[in-house]
Amino acid sequence: MRDACFLAELARFEPDPDGRTWHVVLADQLSADIGPPASIPPERLGLIVVEDRGALRRRPYHRQRIALILANLRHFCLEQARRGVAVRRVVIEGDLEHALVRAFRAVGGATLMRPAQWEDRQEFAPLVEAGMVREVAHDGWLSTRDDFDGSMRSLKRWKMDSFYRHMRRRTGILMEDGQPEGGAFSFDAENRKPWRGDPPPPAPPHFEADAITREVCDEVEREFSEHPGQVDVGALPASAEDAESLWAWALEECLPSFGPFEDAMTTASPGLFHTRISSLVNLHRLLPERVVRDVAASSAPIASREGFVRQVLGWREYVRHVHDATDGFRTLDGVPTPVDPSPGDGGWSRWSGEDWENQEASRPRGGARPNHLEADLPLPMAYWGRPSGLECLDRVVADVWREGWSHHITRLMVLGNIATLIGADPRELTDWFWAAYTDAWDWVVEPNVLGMATFATGELMTTKPYVSGAAYIHRMSDYCSECAFDPKTNCPLTSLYWSFLDQHGERLARNPRMRVVLNALAKRPSERRAADREVAADVRRTLSEGRPLSPATRG
Ligand SMILES: Cc1cc2nc3c(=O)[nH]c(=O)nc-3n(C[C@H](O)[C@H](O)[C@H](O)COP(=O)(O)OP(=O)(O)OC[C@H]3O[C@@H](n4cnc5c(N)ncnc54)[C@H](O)[C@@H]3O)c2cc1C
Ligand code: SF4
Repeated sequence: MRDACFLAELARFEPDPDGRTWHVVLADQLSADIGPPASIPPERLGLIVVEDRGALRRRPYHRQRIALILANLRHFCLEQARRGVAVRRVVIEGDLEHALVRAFRAVGGATLMRPAQWEDRQEFAPLVEAGMVREVAHDGWLSTRDDFDGSMRSLKRWKMDSFYRHMRRRTGILMEDGQPEGGAFSFDAENRKPWRGDPPPPAPPHFEADAITREVCDEVEREFSEHPGQVDVGALPASAEDAESLWAWALEECLPSFGPFEDAMTTASPGLFHTRISSLVNLHRLLPERVVRDVAASSAPIASREGFVRQVLGWREYVRHVHDATDGFRTLDGVPTPVDPSPGDGGWSRWSGEDWENQEASRPRGGARPNHLEADLPLPMAYWGRPSGLECLDRVVADVWREGWSHHITRLMVLGNIATLIGADPRELTDWFWAAYTDAWDWVVEPNVLGMATFATGELMTTKPYVSGAAYIHRMSDYCSECAFDPKTNCPLTSLYWSFLDQHGERLARNPRMRVVLNALAKRPSERRAADREVAADVRRTLSEGRPLSPATRG
């Protein structure tokens, strides 16, 4: 049997299920410290833990993501059973509603924290309507919809900074006598240093796999073999103990230098001083409230503490509200957005030559495809690992497929930037991110890719597109030293950048923050602009054909 070891271990604890209050736990709600379980004694609590295997096959997810979810879910079941909670793990292979109705009938109904994912909310809606499940607020979040709406009331456009300031004041985190600690709400300007080798970055922690984790890894290799990526068991935090050791490492080894080098990138360390906690925070193995409080109370410099708090109390909460308020970008400014009929595969079928068999015929759901810049180039195979000749891109893509993770600036300023500059389809890029990263869920991946990285939602979330030529990557990384191109002379990203401004200049002209670069574009001689357009067309064509760029053919 695929999970014999897990089931045998669970069977060792079979508390009497009668007289319990039952609560449903989804794969990304793996905590008994939030929601109804937090206030019910273990001997009166019953948990229905949903292992939705159909959902794990919905897209060509990285095997590490699947292993992470299954290993944490099963460890959570055992951790709860050990403390006397009655645990029913329900495996869903096809129709979720059908499988769960039986479980609910057996226990007479249950509560469920409002799912974070749009997809899960759709799934559970019929059960909620039928009264089998009573939905309660998800108190894993640090903010409410009122916080979001209230902080935006006097603004024409949503702004993360207004929301963040409101949250700092409302929670009192990093506040002293009503004033921001250190004298400012943001230390962003201090947090943009390139990293030149000092201090040395910490090696990520190694986790010892137990029998339950090893069983999950074998199962993923065997039953999810069509999925891309590999399972790296030593890099897989699976138990509550693993989560604690990852968090201790992040606090001690990463946080002191987190702030200043937040935007830096290097070949020497894919993660530098980033904490790598996102996957576990999104599963609620580490609670946002706890990580924010620990960081605020730590002895790290204020620029690092504030930088971290802004990401979790600010950005993480903000993107979730934007997603919720737009129904997952299905409505923008009151206008419906086109929606894909079924989940996208991020270009996997072009890469593998095989159709992605989404085996959930009864559960089709695709994502919204806002496309402010009308970008429609199919995502180049370089994102799946075919060499592009652009060292920054190839390096980050290799890191992502090795680890199922890369840090924020590589996502934004390499993967997102290059895709936006070449005009790649933002929906396909979103589905690629969703498939490739272990921390991806719709509420977080869609705002970050559609809203931030690709400007597909226009000025909804950001004031201007996050695009740059070679200069930024050269300044903030050491990738260029290993590249066949020279960032100062023939890097095609610079031509792509000018050509992007040329192409979208009219659309961007009314934005005051674009004025300086558009003025610079206007001063660029017309023959240089024509050459930029030619380079851009050639890059698009070459990458679309899956061929690498080279200075010999381009320059
Ligand atoms: C194109 C793109 C796609 C992204 N996709 C995801 C995704 O699928 N899942 C995801 O969790 N994050 C996503 N992010 C946000 C961010 O890049 C990751 O949260 C972060 O890199 C995770 O690594 P870390 O834990 O080391 O984070 P750190 O740099 O150590 O930051 C600490 C924590 O802050 C939170 N955080 C930071 N930035 C963001 C943000 N923009 N949105 C939400 N939370 C944030 C995360 O919980 C993170 O763990 C994306 C960003 C971009 C630009
Ligand atoms: S030279 Fe250009 S393509 Fe090469 S690594 Fe630098 S920015 Fe990337």
